[in-house]
Amino acid sequence: MINHLPEQKNKQILITSVATGSSERNSNDKFEDKATSNQPISWQTQVADVITDIDQLLAILELSDIKSELYIPKGFGLRVPKAFVAKMKKGDPKDPLLLQVLPSKLEQAKISGYVTDPLAENEQNPIKGLLHKYHSRVLVTVTGACAIHCRYCFRQHFDYQGNLPKSEQLELIQDYIGQHPEIREVLLSGGDPLSLSNRRLFLWLDALEALPQISTIRIHTRLPIVIPERLDSELLSRLQASRCQIVMVVHTNHANEIDEHTANYLLQARQKGITLLNQTVLLAGINDSVSVQVDLSERLFAAGVLPYYLHLLDKVEGAAHFDMTQRRAVELYWEMLQQLPGYLVPKLVQELPNRPFKTPVDLYNHY
Ligand SMILES: *Cc1c(COP(=O)(O)O)cnc(C)c1O
Ligand code: SF4
Repeated sequence: MINHLPEQKNKQILITSVATGSSERNSNDKFEDKATSNQPISWQTQVADVITDIDQLLAILELSDIKSELYIPKGFGLRVPKAFVAKMKKGDPKDPLLLQVLPSKLEQAKISGYVTDPLAENEQNPIKGLLHKYHSRVLVTVTGACAIHCRYCFRQHFDYQGNLPKSEQLELIQDYIGQHPEIREVLLSGGDPLSLSNRRLFLWLDALEALPQISTIRIHTRLPIVIPERLDSELLSRLQASRCQIVMVVHTNHANEIDEHTANYLLQARQKGITLLNQTVLLAGINDSVSVQVDLSERLFAAGVLPYYLHLLDKVEGAAHFDMTQRRAVELYWEMLQQLPGYLVPKLVQELPNRPFKTPVDLYNHY
């Protein structure tokens, strides 16, 4: 199902600018066909048409000369939706959105302290797909799939195959929650839970809403940022109709990820009574300056989203080149406190393996 928004035209411009952006593109490109018939592109089509080929990405961005700095990963490969690529600047190898998805050779460095399961999550599953680490909340990894592969992702080495709940596990998860009355909130996570079809996602919502103890359902997702059409009217209506509070935590690292088209979809979600929050990962070379953080908070707010968490990078293998010292992170945070209203300052946190909450970073200890 497709949204018919007034800014549909913008979207066409946005997407066709990717499709036709490169002189190498041939004329039977399916986006061009769609563009001439002036049909919006469904999110499913966009997910099926993500870029996984490095040469194709470099051609679109006119960056073929940086190929020698890249490599082809064995497992977690390049994956980026065209609509996200359209938000990147051509010819800029340091574009903050590009750096989030480009497999750099720097990932191959083995650096001590950076491991495949930094949060020891592989050991905390009482039932496949269920993480009960925090007192009142459980996290369910409903899918391993993402529309985009973020190079710093702390779950990039996670054994999803062994940990995805099968449909029969839905009942086991319901039973587990029933036996733990302290659980009030369920987080749907992944992977990206919105990469499930509406039909499958609604099965989860139905099952959770059937548990009287659950007051809040939270969806942790990056899809509304990378393919805004995922917030289709069928999904938004279903969420609006829920008897639970619905919280959607999106994941944005840079203001350039939220253009007007993306903001319009987010604002629609907010109009349906969904609480919208954002989490950001602090990434060297991408968002490690106060001006970038201030722009991000302001852009989020304009799109109806409040900043929630600013995470120190999880020390996952292959992501060390995105890390920065804790001292630098704290300095940056003090600058943010000076420049932003309190409600636009996210909480600076880190996830430590055996703590049952996200740990606030100590702002008074100079590391
Ligand atoms: C982040 C997280 C939560 C939610 O934490 P909040 O502080 O409520 O946002 C719950 N469970 C797990 C395993 C988490 O990693
Ligand atoms: S969208 Fe989230 S889960 Fe998926 S690769 Fe990016 S950080 Fe990881």
